[in-house]
Order: sequence, then structure tokens, then C-alpha cells
Amino acid sequence: MESNERQRLMKRAAQLKKATRPPATKAVARRSYDDEDDEPIMVRRRAPSLDDYVWQLLGEEETPTATPLAPKLTGMVVSIGPRVCDVMLEGRLTSCKLSPDLAARQQTELAVGDEAALERRGSDTIVVGVLPRRTKLSRPDAGNCNLERVIVANVDVVVVVVSVISPPLHPRLIDRYLIAIQRGGAIPVIAVNKLDLHSSEADLREDVWRLAPYQALGIPVVLCSASNGRGREELLQALQGRVSAFVGHSGVGKSSLLNMVKPELSLKTGDVSNGYGRGTHTTTKSTLWDLGNETLVIDTPGIRSFGLWNLREDELPYYFPEFAMVGRCKFGDCTHTHEPGCSVKVAVETGTIAEDRYDTYLRIKTTLEK
Ligand code: GDP
Ligand code: ZN
Repeated sequence: MESNERQRLMKRAAQLKKATRPPATKAVARRSYDDEDDEPIMVRRRAPSLDDYVWQLLGEEETPTATPLAPKLTGMVVSIGPRVCDVMLEGRLTSCKLSPDLAARQQTELAVGDEAALERRGSDTIVVGVLPRRTKLSRPDAGNCNLERVIVANVDVVVVVVSVISPPLHPRLIDRYLIAIQRGGAIPVIAVNKLDLHSSEADLREDVWRLAPYQALGIPVVLCSASNGRGREELLQALQGRVSAFVGHSGVGKSSLLNMVKPELSLKTGDVSNGYGRGTHTTTKSTLWDLGNETLVIDTPGIRSFGLWNLREDELPYYFPEFAMVGRCKFGDCTHTHEPGCSVKVAVETGTIAEDRYDTYLRIKTTLEK
């Protein structure tokens, strides 16, 4: 090393040593020594000498192209596109690129609501990872049932939206969602929309009656009509101060209900076609909306069927809590299908357990592996 270069290095080392020297008060010294008691031996070192600073500078100079450590940045994923996503970062919506590794697995690895680990590289913000999830709502990939698809992450509440008449009420879909919600750790709420469509009080009462088993299980059921504003306050109350996701069949009115609680969103809504009454697919990807007052809602695209991710047959009864409420069956390992002395079957016959729910249990059971 040239002597003037060495001088420059020594000078910088001295400056660095001065700048990083700890205050030498007795109290601080004693406290820091106590603090170190539980730490590994290697951190209990002598004060660094000038040589240490020289070596540190030499180390930095040896790798002049190394990028400085990026600050630890995280942000909530608001929407996802091919190899990109929008993230709420320090209160601002920021367009980010996905790292090549993540982009290759983005359909299974990244979901709206995820807390993304970010790095700034030049003018780009890159998503380099996903933080552990608090809750999730998953289903198997439509093309590969061994692959988990996370629909939304980190939501407190999942609002299962169903409608009456068009499309008609499908309690079986509610049951499937409830299992997935329970497995993922969020709280369920059921919103029944289009209650303006019943042509008679009797029809309305019949549909509401089919929802009684959920209320009996303590699940809030909000009766709504996005057309006339019914249920607005109750729905808003269920969302207030929480992160929620609206899920359900296409055309049931998820976007319309979101517009009802927050008209400023002006979400596009689809037309219901004639016949079966399926809505067009207006919501094609999940998006997180800020309704103000710390209330966040994710609108998800409608789906026609909802598979259950990674559920074993012997776990299934636990997701029907009413089965445990009707007393023990004769056999400890009763599957509640054909066994004599089955309390569940008796309860279905006497109407204590809803026939619709038991029917869902049987149907799901036949699709699961032992
Ligand atoms: P999404 O696919 O679940 O988001 O459903 P949309 O919000 O797009 O609504 C689908 C269709 O149902 C649209 O034509 C809406 O105008 C209609 N719709 C939504 N809510 C109601 C309601 O409460 N009553 C009636 N009669 N129609 C509704
Ligand atoms: Zn039984």
C-alpha cells in the first residue's frame, strides 16, 4: 500500500473510532456489562482498537460493489398483478416488482393482505419475501389439488356473502367456507344479500329459516339488500376497525355491498344474466380497500366452488360443533353415517341438527382421504 494511501486509511480509522466511541460513564459501563451477562461470550469483547477500525475499513474497501444493507421495509399487499404488486408502504400506495424467485411462485406464495418484505434497489421497490401470516383463507389450486392457494392473508374477519333468489341461497357453500375460515384462524360473518327480491313473506321466512343453524352456532348473520340499504349499519359494525375479506359466489353482490357501506368506492358491479342468474365476472382480482377509521376490506373475485385445503376425514366432525352438543354416540369412533346408537343421526331426525348441515357433512366426507 502506498504511504499516502496508508495515511488516509489511518486518518479515516481514527475518525471512525472517535465517532463510534461509547460514552465512558461508570453507570453506563456497569449496566452494559450486566446486560451482556446473558449474551454469547463472543460479544463480550474489549473496546475496539485503532487496528480494528483499520481492518473494518479495509473490509469495506475489499467489496466496493457490495450494496449497503437496505433498511428493513415492510408493507401490506393491496393488489397483485403478473410479477408486480401494489403495497401500502408508509401510508402511500407503492408499485413493487416481485423478486424472480417470488414471481415464479406468486400464485401460491403471495396474497392480498400479506405483509411483504421489501428492498429498495435503485428506483425500484422489490418484494423479496412474505412475513409469517396471522390468518389465511386457503383452498386447493383448481389445477393441482396438492398446491395451496391463499385467497387472502392476515384478515380478522371473512364475510361470506350469499344471496337469495338470484343466485339462490346455497348453504352448502357457506358450510365449506366456514370450515376453511376456522382452519385459517379468522372470524366468520354471513351476509345474506338481495332480500328485496322475495315475492312473498313466506319465501323470505323460509330462506331466513335456513340460516338459523349458523346463528345457533354464534355466527353473526347480517340480512342485507344493497338495493335498498338494508343491513348497512350492522355490516359496517362487523367491519369497523378490522381487516375483512368479502368472499362468495360471483353475482351475489359483494361489490354492491361494499358500495353500500362506502359509496365513494364506486366499484363496478356486474349484470345478472337471465336463467340461473350468474353475475358476470366484474371483480377479476382481489383488492384491498381502505374504508377509513382503520377499516380495511378485501374484495375477492367470485368463485363457483370452494375446495377444502388439506383436510383429513377424521378432522371433519370438529368443524360441525353442533355434533358434539348432542351427546355421545354409542361408539367412540362413530363416523355418524351408518352406526347404530349414533346421537348425531337421531338429532338430525328430530330436527336438533339441521338436515342441510348434516347433508354437507356427508358430501364433504365422501370427497376426503382417510
Ligand atoms: P359480485 O360479483 O358478488 O361482486 O356481485 P355484484 O355486486 O357485481 O352484483 C351482481 C348483480 O346483482 C348486479 O347486477 C347488482 O346490481 C345486483 N345486486 C347486487 N345487490 C343486489 C340487491 O341487494 N338486490 C338486487 N335486487 N340486486 C342486487
Ligand atoms: Zn355418531
